[in-house]
This record gives sequence, structure tokens and C-alpha cells, in this order.
Amino acid sequence: MTILVDVDHIDKIYPLKTGGEYVALRNVDLKINQGEFVSLIGHSGCGKSTLLNIIAGFEQASIGGVVLSGKQITSPGPDRMMVFQNYSLLPWLTVRQNIALAVDKVMTDLPAAERKDIIEKHIDLVGLRAAADKRPGALSGGMKQRTAIARALAIRPKVLLLDEPFGALDALTRGNLQEQLMQICEEYKTTCVMVTHDVDEALLLSDRVVMLTNGPEAHIGRILNVDFPRPRKRMEVVNDPTYYPNRGEIINFLNQQKRDKRRKARKVSEEKTSIPAVTAVKTVEKSVVTLGYVPTTDAAPLVVAKEKGFFAKHGLTQVELIPDSSWQTIADGLANQRLDCAQLLAGMPLAMSIGADRKRPTPIVTAMVLARNGNAITLSKKLYDDGVRNLKDLKKAIAATPDQPHSFGLVDSVSMGSLLTRYWLASGGIDPDRDLSLSIMSSAEMKNQISKGFIDGYLASEPWNSAAVKDETGFVVATDLEIWDGHQNKVLGVREDWAQENPKTHVALVKALIEACEYCDDRRNREEIIKMLAKPEYLNLPAEQLRPGFIDPFQRSLDQAPEMLVRFNQYYVEQSTCPRRAEALWILTQMARWNITPFPKNWTEVLERVYCRDTYGQAARELGLPDSVDDHESVKLFDGLVFNPDDPMSYLASLKISHEIRVEEIVFEEAPAPRSLRSKSLAA
Ligand code: ADP
Ligand code: MG
Repeated sequence: MTILVDVDHIDKIYPLKTGGEYVALRNVDLKINQGEFVSLIGHSGCGKSTLLNIIAGFEQASIGGVVLSGKQITSPGPDRMMVFQNYSLLPWLTVRQNIALAVDKVMTDLPAAERKDIIEKHIDLVGLRAAADKRPGALSGGMKQRTAIARALAIRPKVLLLDEPFGALDALTRGNLQEQLMQICEEYKTTCVMVTHDVDEALLLSDRVVMLTNGPEAHIGRILNVDFPRPRKRMEVVNDPTYYPNRGEIINFLNQQKRDKRRKARKVSEEKTSIPAVTAVKTVEKSVVTLGYVPTTDAAPLVVAKEKGFFAKHGLTQVELIPDSSWQTIADGLANQRLDCAQLLAGMPLAMSIGADRKRPTPIVTAMVLARNGNAITLSKKLYDDGVRNLKDLKKAIAATPDQPHSFGLVDSVSMGSLLTRYWLASGGIDPDRDLSLSIMSSAEMKNQISKGFIDGYLASEPWNSAAVKDETGFVVATDLEIWDGHQNKVLGVREDWAQENPKTHVALVKALIEACEYCDDRRNREEIIKMLAKPEYLNLPAEQLRPGFIDPFQRSLDQAPEMLVRFNQYYVEQSTCPRRAEALWILTQMARWNITPFPKNWTEVLERVYCRDTYGQAARELGLPDSVDDHESVKLFDGLVFNPDDPMSYLASLKISHEIRVEEIVFEEAPAPRSLRSKSLAA
């Protein structure tokens, strides 16, 4: 491939009137190939136009330079034509005259007849035959822009430079012009550099999307190669399986830049405000925090963070742990701002943000995992007496009694446990929605119902499985370690607007809880933790009941020897606390599989928004821990089926038992208005 334009390590520094200087671009290095279409994307004011102007020769780089076909660019020239957003046609000339002016001025060595041919050909190229004698004032925006493109192309430049060329046009016109430009560029093999802020436009047209960081000192943050085959058709491009992942890459980058900008702005405003030093060093916005949770052994890190002073150590002097037996009440508590934050089931942040089960969405973010594993599936004593020992037997037992109702209890539809149970049943050929009836109830209620023979099985965390084993009302047919060892089970969740208003509090919470998780995974501490958990204000249960799995061996049934399950309650080892997007994506596939939510077309965007890796990263770095994990690995579940996080759609298509998958673009709700505004409008 021949390099046509070589942007060679350029800086652009503007002197400021007030003295000093503004470094707009820093060390931008970009080689553009002959015939390539490159888009520049980045937030407003980052320096996109500056870079384009330097390539055009309107401006000079302060350091470094641009070389075009071996020659350094020092001034504008006909080998580079620019199309601006605002047309820049001469208003007193017609379409034909505007094009002719450029052609006659540049192509002086051609005979007049040939020049005329070129002019007429370009009028046709952009479909302006009928308007050729009209002046710009009589043309629509799209027609004016087509004239500008025809004028630029007519003199056959080596590079076509476009600065947000379609930004001022309506969506339909923009779409048509994008397609026309694409056809022309493919036909003429034109080299193009286009500034845009439209992600879809960039993906449709480009071979490479160059993403610029915010200024000052803007530089190339990332380059995305766009490999859709050419010639491209919009619908084919949009339906390409890599389209949304690619789109997500760009959006993630832009979002990250946006957050970065906000962070810097905050820092500047803090530095500017002349509050006394004492208040300025205050580390959290909110030292009094309400934290909702459901009392099970999974709550250990919360209890430890409070009892062992980890919250206080990070400036959270008053964290109130608020127990509730229902996950729905906790979800409502977050949504209506009764709770600042909560322990949530793994699927809840996604389900609440998307709006599962026809509920109104509440944007929730999660920055860390609080517990992994820790669930088991219990089946009734009756099934045990009928000889059921495993999934295969269960399938047989259900098939043998088709007239009898079979039912399972679950704590919620979006817990990892529920999704794993459904997965487990389905991989054994049992359709959880057709062959069974699933009911949502509390763990205590499940335990009660199985003892009365009302349900055939349930999924729960401890102590609810070993309790059924102990009083011989049920037996454990599988622990979740056997289904997916190391999956996330409970996570920390806060409302997105809360996270935005209280970023330091959020980081402090995560830091305190990571340290608490570390404390919980040191088995020497577990005797002490059991005593804490058992207290009336927390689990309010005899300490004995909490031992199986957590500290003692776990017994599946009375005629089996108890076994030590070291990872049954996992809080910290193997970077347990770090959120993994692959896991979250698996949750999205399963929620779609069972028709709990649609599958988001824009799943990378959804994950980026809900999975708050920045907050985790900051907390981990401040604690001196690794701030991320490689979460692109495929996941292999117990049945041998591999989940490849790069291709969720094929995975969904490969699942045998499934509802019809709804695939939808998820448009997030805006964060709710602050409390004061909302209470007013409620009163009205
Ligand atoms: P974009 O096209 O990405 O929106 P620009 O390239 O127009 O951004 O501007 C980049 C930055 O350089 C902006 O912060 C802008 O204020 C600054 N800038 C542009 N031209 C000048 C100039 N002549 N003097 C000082 N600063 C400038
Ligand atoms: Mg600009």
C-alpha cells in the first residue's frame, strides 16, 4: 500500500492573547494510504478541524509536518480540496458556475471543451442536472452540499478533506449523501479524510476511524479498522455481526473521554474555589450512607466492612446496613432513593437499567462484585425417595408424570442463581417455563414450601440448602460450583445519578468493600465472621446454621459424606471483586433467552454504561491492586458449551431451549431529576 499523506508527529500550539499558549494537538502521527477513507472523531473542540486544516495547508504545524506524495505541505493546493459544513459556495453564481470557477482556475492546461465535459459530468455525478442553473439561495441544504462535493471532486484532488460535511443536514438527506459520497469515492478511488461526530457515519464510510482524545494536547487515542466488505450497502453494514461491537468501541472511547473531561472540570472548579483547607481535604461527598442487603452469608463483606471499620477508614463514618428479605424491595429502595446503594443480585443492575418485566427502567451502575458462587439447587425429599440423584433422573421423573404439576422456587428472575438454574434445567432437556412452573419467593418461604411438599425444588444461597438437608426435607442435587465455578453472585449497585453526584463516596465504598472481601477470604477470619453475621441486627440466626459451606464441609444429603468446598463462598481471590464484562454479557444472553429483557443490539454500550470499570479501577489503584482483568476469555459451562463473548448472537442461536429472542436497541432513560425537583412534581 502506498502512503499518500504522512502526518508526521505534529504539535499545534496557539499563542494566547492573554499570554501563554494553548497546545491544541500533541504528537499526532498518522499515515493515510492511497485510496483510503479515514474518519476523525472526537469531542467538540478537541482539534479535529485543526488537524484537517493543517493537512489542507490552511494552517501550519508548530512542530512536525505533513507530507503529501513526498512533498511537504506549506500552503493550500488543488491536490487537496476541502468541503466544509457550511457549503461555502459563491452565492451569486449558479451550480454550474460554481463548479466551473474551480475547474477553469485549476485545470488551465485542458482545452475549454474538455473542461466543459468535466463540469457537466460532475453535475450529473451528484444528480444536479435539473438545478444546474440555480443559485445557492434557491437550493436545499443537501443540494448545496452536493454542489460543494462536485466542485471539490471536479478538479480531481489527490485528497478530499471533509469537515463535518453532512452535519447541518436532516437525517434523510444526510443518509442519501453519505451513500452518494461512498459510491463516488469507490468509483474514483478517492483518498478521503472526514471529520465527523456521527459514529454510524464514520462506520459506514471509513476504512479506519481515528479517535482523538480531548484537548489540550489532543492526540490519537485509538484507531479502529473497519473491515466491512466494499462496495458497502447501509443495511448490510448495520446487520454485520461486528457492527455493534465496533460501534461500541467508538462510543466507549467517546464516553470515556467525556467522563475524563468532567473529572478535569471538577478538579479545576475545586482548585478555584477558595474554601478553607479543612473542608477542601474532605474526601467524600457523603459520609452517611444507607446500604440495603438481603441477610445471607453473601452479606459477609458488608458486615465486615462495618464491624471491622473498613467503611470508617475510607471516610464513610456512618454506613447504615438495611436488611430486607425481598430483592424487589431493595430495587424499589434504590429507585426511590430510600437507599444510597445496595447489595444486588448479579443480573439486577442490567435488568433495572434496561427495564425488565415491563418495569420502568432505573439506570443503575455496578462497580464491583461482592460475592461469587455460594448457591445450590435443592430438590424435595419425595424426588429423593423416587430415586432422583441428578439432572438426568429429574428429567425422567418429570417426563414420567406429565399430568402432575412440577414447580421450583426462585428468589428473583434475574439472580445469577435463577439464570444458572434455568440453564442447568434446559441443558438437561427440561424447559423451565413449559415443564415446570417457577415461582418467586423468599428463601425462607422456599424452605417452608419444600417441607410441605408444595414445590419440587429451589435455588438458594446458604443457609437455606443445608437447612433442608439437615431436617431431611430435601437434598442438594447440584452446587453452582459444578455449573459455573467462579461466577458472580452478588454485586454492589447504585443509581447512575448517585454515582455521578458522589464519585468519591462511590470510590470509598468500593475501596472499603474490596478490603472487606479480602478479609472474608482469609479463612482464619471466618470463625469471627460467623459470629458477626449471626448477630440479631444481621442474619439473626444461630451461628451453627451458617457454618456449612462457609467454614465447615458442605453436606448434600444425609447419606453422603460432607465435602470441603473451598470456593463455595468466594469474595476476593482471583480478582473476584473486579467486574467482568463477559459475565455480564452472558447474563444479557440469558435474560433474552428467557424473555426477561430484549437482547440489546447495542450491548457493548449497555455494558459500558452499567459496568462501572472506572470506579473499580480507581479504587483498586488506590489500594495498590490490579485495576482490571482480561475479560475476553470464553466461558465454558458444565455442559461443555462455550460462550464466546465476541459473538453473543451465535451463542444465543445455538441454545436449544429458548424463547424467541427479541433484539432491540436499548435507549437509556435519562438519570432521574434530583430529589427536590421530583418531590415537587409528585406533589403537583
Ligand atoms: P474541533 O474541530 O475538534 O471541534 P478545533 O480544531 O476547531 O476543534 O479546535 C481545537 C482547539 O484549538 C479548541 O480548543 C480551539 O479553541 C483551539 N483553537 C483553534 N484555533 C485557535 C486559535 N487560532 N487560537 C487559539 N486557539 C485555537
Ligand atoms: Mg471542528
